[in-house]
Amino acid sequence: MLELADSHIHLDDRAFDGDRDRVLARGAAAGVHTCIVPGVDAASWPRIKRLAEEIPAVRPAYGLHPMYVAQHRPEHLAQLPDWLAEPDTVAVGEIGLDFYVQEADPERQRHYFHAQLQLARERGLPVILHARRALEEIIHTLRRLPGLRGVVHSFSGSEEQARQLWQMGFHLGIGGPVTYERAQRLRRIVARMPLEFLLLETDAPDQPGAGHRGLRNEPAYLTEVLDCVAALRGEDRAALAAATTANVRALFGLDRLAPPHTPVQPPAG
Ligand SMILES: [Zn+2]
Repeated sequence: MLELADSHIHLDDRAFDGDRDRVLARGAAAGVHTCIVPGVDAASWPRIKRLAEEIPAVRPAYGLHPMYVAQHRPEHLAQLPDWLAEPDTVAVGEIGLDFYVQEADPERQRHYFHAQLQLARERGLPVILHARRALEEIIHTLRRLPGLRGVVHSFSGSEEQARQLWQMGFHLGIGGPVTYERAQRLRRIVARMPLEFLLLETDAPDQPGAGHRGLRNEPAYLTEVLDCVAALRGEDRAALAAATTANVRALFGLDRLAPPHTPVQPPAG
């Protein structure tokens, strides 16, 4: 039986409103027993908290996403520490920089990003990072803030950037994009990177793999990412599942922070 953790899934997205239970059941049947669910704006936080209360697999993170910077307000930033203080919060996220989206003012993005990095540092929480056309600046920023931990989700940078990140102790989140044969640079990086910094993710409902192009993504499809990464690395899929799940548990402190409603799980592997 596989033991998988989806390190990045927007389970609160309204794309799942009609059949969230069935989506989760299919995920569980495929071995996905842990879902890290990051917030994107203040309106998403209560939704995610509710999901975490109802579904033992859901582990919540709270943050203000750079793509939605026009909606963020100073009071949201002021409220964030209370959400981070919730005992089951596992990370600050999803935060970062996105210089691809034209409408998202870069200076406003930087303001919210830097403030949230500081919060993560103060609280000792890992960060879940979104980086689009912005990885160089993000790496530069992280260098000035030693002690931060986290993951660059849906990593799409160069081999040099990948190395810089794991040398700083950051993980790379790998999902659907790796299943496309044309993603040669990413595939090369995934094939050779140190296992201890590798996390699997779906980013569902977005970023479906090659087998579900143009369709809604979901946690059950994490096995296709697993199989692709296992083939690229020449590793056993069950061993890779166990190792990447252990990485998720360690980065997000899941064993330390198990809330009362979560049944104790046997160790992976
Ligand atoms: Zn995301």
